[in-house]
Amino acid sequence: MKLCISVPRCTFTNRSEAPEVFPRGQGQFKCMCALDGSSLPVVGITSAVFGLEREIQHMPSGGCLCGAIRYQIQGDLAPIEICHCSQCRRAQGTPFASNIPIRSERFTLVQGSESLTVYASSPGKERLFCRHCGSPVISRRTGVPDWVRVRAGTLDAPVPARPRAHFHVASKADWWDIEDDLPRYAERD
Ligand SMILES: [Zn+2]
Ligand SMILES: [Zn+2]
Repeated sequence: MKLCISVPRCTFTNRSEAPEVFPRGQGQFKCMCALDGSSLPVVGITSAVFGLEREIQHMPSGGCLCGAIRYQIQGDLAPIEICHCSQCRRAQGTPFASNIPIRSERFTLVQGSESLTVYASSPGKERLFCRHCGSPVISRRTGVPDWVRVRAGTLDAPVPARPRAHFHVASKADWWDIEDDLPRYAERD
């Protein structure tokens, strides 16, 4: 199996599954992920990529609606947290946000950093979205730089994570009824 260095958990098992490779200057390449057909652009170092033998499972990835922003996540996904707070509702335009907390070092912006725009929705709370298509991608707290919260709706399928609880249900949309048996918290847990 061949290992892609910038997607450490991405593998392809034989030549027919090998990603299309495009030379991008000295020692660099750009390929399309052939494992899940997601056309995931990857940039890495050619010399370190091919010939490595390792078996690793595929890495969760995602992006915005227009495709300008693409990201990858290293490691397993935590459960999805459903947030019904009024800020999340307005930010998403939906009755709730679906967020996955991820350690910052495990979240990699593969492309589109110039498109990722910051909106400070309250002191210390930043919501980052695509300036082209408006997709909310992540949020973060400036006082907690070790964590980001990925918007689960931007993840590529299949998504192994499932919702674990509802938060801020005290301020949830009055037109939306929660009909599952997940734990509910009036504010945070
Ligand atoms: Zn976009
Ligand atoms: Zn919220």
